[in-house]
Amino acid sequence: MENYDVVIVGAGPAGLRCAEMLAKSNKTILLLEKNKVIGPKVCGGGLPNADLERFNIPDELLEKKFKAMTIHSPFFQNEIKSDDEFLYTINREKFGQWQFEKINKSKVEIRVKTKVKEVNKDYIILDTEEEIGFKYLIGADGANSIVRKYLGLKTEKFCVAIQYIIPSNEYKKLEFFFDSKLFNSWYAWIFPRKDFVSIGCGCNTSMLSAKKLRENFNFWLEKNKIDISKGEYQAYTINYDYRGYKFNDIFLAGESAGLVSGLTGEGIHSALVSGEEVVKSILDKNYHSKKIDKIVKVGDRHIKILNFLDRLGIFRNLALGLISIPLKSEKLQEIINKKLFH
Ligand SMILES: Cc1cc2nc3c(=O)[nH]c(=O)nc-3n(C[C@H](O)[C@H](O)[C@H](O)COP(=O)(O)OP(=O)(O)OC[C@H]3O[C@@H](n4cnc5c(N)ncnc54)[C@H](O)[C@@H]3O)c2cc1C
Repeated sequence: MENYDVVIVGAGPAGLRCAEMLAKSNKTILLLEKNKVIGPKVCGGGLPNADLERFNIPDELLEKKFKAMTIHSPFFQNEIKSDDEFLYTINREKFGQWQFEKINKSKVEIRVKTKVKEVNKDYIILDTEEEIGFKYLIGADGANSIVRKYLGLKTEKFCVAIQYIIPSNEYKKLEFFFDSKLFNSWYAWIFPRKDFVSIGCGCNTSMLSAKKLRENFNFWLEKNKIDISKGEYQAYTINYDYRGYKFNDIFLAGESAGLVSGLTGEGIHSALVSGEEVVKSILDKNYHSKKIDKIVKVGDRHIKILNFLDRLGIFRNLALGLISIPLKSEKLQEIINKKLFH
């Protein structure tokens, strides 16, 4: 049996960041990815501007830049503008390849098309039946993590997000549509990307079943005369049920740990940050991650808002419309941004 100091399962933003950081240590490292190509993922690819500087993301990776967004609810329609760009989109395949290029390959062995099919106390089994031993295991394997399952952690808070990828340059504006009858506390979005548009919606399955969500989404598409005949349908789960990241010699990073916002579905930032922090925890046994604490604190705040909106019932549409009004003022935008995301 081959043995490594650290085995990382999954080469998404979290796993790739772990590999990049660990390559600076003297550990032996193996990174495993079940897909043939590193990067592609069902995702809106939205990143807030603060992340560009934080992770030195080069300009050429940015597809679209937004200074404004339109919020629709049955009662209001508001265009919220900012002087500066506040949201960018990236192509997940290119982003994954950029992260991959930054890994020192002489220090990290990378195997693609290699699925981990079983996790045990100190070794894993691959789909080829090969057994691999580890001192530390990092589960960076996303929303349906096999490492998380091995740890016996429940996943009770999760969303289903669905989208159509439509080849079109017709849509220019970033738009969000709140309609509590169709999407409960969540929303539908129009996210213009490079040469295509992502039009989708999501919802926590305890609030709305996946089947009902799809029916409601189809109704909404028809009502808004959105042509999906050339679109590709995609669906994926979002796990926002955080239950810890450190379990003796086994660690979880990114979405396998539930580090995603249940309110906005944003998870790239927390995948990158938690990837770094997990590595620090492996290299220093006494390290305590204040950055993960902060992500969890913000995530808990988002869950409280979701639950509050859920309890509002028939008043939800009104509340969602009212929320968008203060966003018109830049000062209030700043305050809300601070309170909600920091
Ligand atoms: C429709 C939708 C829209 C979204 N939009 C946004 C957005 O606009 N902005 C944002 O910040 N976030 C968004 N997200 C969330 C974001 O995509 C994820 O939170 C983020 O990709 C998590 O990164 P990760 O590295 O933890 O996991 P992932 O990106 O899921 O990577 C996990 C990797 O592990 C691999 N893997 C899984 N199991 C195994 C196994 N057994 N063996 C080997 N490899 C395995 C997978 O193939 C994958 O490559 C969206 C999600 C959805 C579903």
